[in-house]
Amino acid sequence: MKALKTDLGLSITVWDTGIGIPDDKKHLLFQPFQQLDSSLSRRHEGTGLGLVLTKKLVEMHAGAITFESKEGAGTSFTVTLPEWHLPEPETKAETSLPDAAAGTVLHVSGKKIMVVEDNRLNMLLASDYLKLNGFEVIEASDGEQALLMVSSERPDLILMDIQMPGIDGLEVTRRLKEDPSTRTISIIAMTALAMQGDEKMCLNAGCDDYIRKPVNLDEMIAKVEKLLRAG
Ligand code: MN
Repeated sequence: MKALKTDLGLSITVWDTGIGIPDDKKHLLFQPFQQLDSSLSRRHEGTGLGLVLTKKLVEMHAGAITFESKEGAGTSFTVTLPEWHLPEPETKAETSLPDAAAGTVLHVSGKKIMVVEDNRLNMLLASDYLKLNGFEVIEASDGEQALLMVSSERPDLILMDIQMPGIDGLEVTRRLKEDPSTRTISIIAMTALAMQGDEKMCLNAGCDDYIRKPVNLDEMIAKVEKLLRAG
């Protein structure tokens, strides 16, 4: 890793001596859930989200990310962040941060989302993406834990996996919606059930909305924000 202060700001480069990225795959690099080696026997693990999240974070700070790669030799990524001169306190400086720094995250800060999900990878994806979008996240790995945590944590909204061992998501939803003290918490079901009518089952149990798996993360954020605004 190498960090340099340049005229443009701060430039940070990390590199490896790994498998490199073939030219015909370079366009896939910043797409969500892309694994360049997607074969079942692949030797290089990952969720396919790391670069997407990095790019988004860097751009939120008005920076840029670039890379160079040689197949079989390795890859280097460079993040460039602009230098910001914050106004001196007590002087009414005209300086303002670049537009991108105004951020799209502030309106949701302080909103608490509970993710109920028994699959660790799914949990990690949803949780990280919510945090990246400015939410406070609490995690429950099964229905029982969710029911216990809801009263102490008082989340504003719950993302609820449906298929879980023990108390499933539909049952958790029913119990929360029957209880006057938790009834008003919005619940979005995350359903891997593929049959027609499953969505209706979720809504009948009391869910306010649902998302199909595999979860489209931007759709998830949009639905979360919509329900929070409505509530
Ligand atoms: Mn599950």
